[in-house]
Amino acid sequence: DQNLADLDPDVAAAIGAELHRQQSTLEMIASENFAPVAVMQAQGSVLTNKYAEGYPGKRYYGGCENVDVIEQIAIDRVTALFGAEAANVQPHSGAQANAAAMFALIEPGDTILGLDLAHGGHLTHGMRINFSGKLYNVVAYHVRESDFLVDMEEVERLAKQHHPKLIVAGWSAHTRQLDFAEFRRIADEVGAYLMVDMAHFAGLVAADLHPSPVPYADVVTTTTHKTLGGPRGGVILCKEGLLKKINSAVFPGQQGGPLEHVIAAKAVAFKVAATQEFRDRQQRTLDGARILAARLSEADVAAGGVSVLTGGTDVHLVLVDLRNSELDGQQAEDRLHAIGITVNRNAVPFDPRPPMVSSGLRIGTPALATRGLDVAAFTEVADVIAIALRGPIDDADLAELRTRVEKVAAAFPLYPDLEA
Ligand code: PLP
Repeated sequence: DQNLADLDPDVAAAIGAELHRQQSTLEMIASENFAPVAVMQAQGSVLTNKYAEGYPGKRYYGGCENVDVIEQIAIDRVTALFGAEAANVQPHSGAQANAAAMFALIEPGDTILGLDLAHGGHLTHGMRINFSGKLYNVVAYHVRESDFLVDMEEVERLAKQHHPKLIVAGWSAHTRQLDFAEFRRIADEVGAYLMVDMAHFAGLVAADLHPSPVPYADVVTTTTHKTLGGPRGGVILCKEGLLKKINSAVFPGQQGGPLEHVIAAKAVAFKVAATQEFRDRQQRTLDGARILAARLSEADVAAGGVSVLTGGTDVHLVLVDLRNSELDGQQAEDRLHAIGITVNRNAVPFDPRPPMVSSGLRIGTPALATRGLDVAAFTEVADVIAIALRGPIDDADLAELRTRVEKVAAAFPLYPDLEA
């Protein structure tokens, strides 16, 4: 058998270049993280060869005795981690977890109430050309223009007016905690299911650094690759009484064979997420985001500095508000890219600029916390970003900032034992 470099040097070279990019730049995309080598080993294992339609003990293929063990470990670990009654660990992604949860709970044509995409919601919470927007009658709630917090009075008003079958709480771009008890109260008042999509903040929940939606929601969905730091994938947590419906919505409703190699990697990630070391890392993630918010907010807006939505953060990300800056989101993203910091531009609520340009940046700290950054290092990164996002800047300034970024990257080596 040939190894990858011999069999396919083109793909091998691109993977090597990607390893080098991850090692030499600072990854601050809020939805990204670095999976432990053990997680990647499980994901790159012989389990990729196995068909296992069905669930542990009830498969439609022979030879499933080993994958049964692995999938059951993953289920047991994730239910224990989050204190959930039941779990399905098969969704290939967060979007598929959400699709399966919706297929299980409601019928096409039913009404769903979710956070507007432009206000921080996810595509699967009702965007027009996503399956959620095509299959369901979507009503969107928003954040308030005064403080950028979710307007729970509007949620209640819309729920009473439209009688949704499902209320979705959760976000892709938001910096404060949601009031799950209030969402539950409103859902009960109108007889709706409550689904919480904790894809972004699941790692913080696992570390007890963010309130858990599990006691309040009928169904909780998550990805496993964001703050949780595992392989790319999805999970559905639910009450025991809903498990049969959820399982049949995932398979055969939506998927064929489960990705048992990814499920093994999820199991490893859940083991890691139950450790004190993981909790410390989530604390550094939060500390880093707070430092970033504070240093960026201290920048003088009148002197070309930027501000931060909601004035701070309770989670792993900061939303930079560029509505009053001469830089738009695209230019700010490009400027940080030029100095070796990777972020994504993001529309801010009530954004005057078009979505492709936008007036915001979403900057997250999970990947750098995984790399080991501490308070001092996050302070240095925050200062570099604050300088980079000030008005005009020349090539010499950019080169100096790039050097400061390289120093941080070198001080916190990533995957030192992997070869490019
Ligand atoms: N849910 C939320 C809140 C997300 O932010 C995302 C990803 O960005 C998803 C679901 C979808 O996850 P995936 O990209 O794995 O489909």
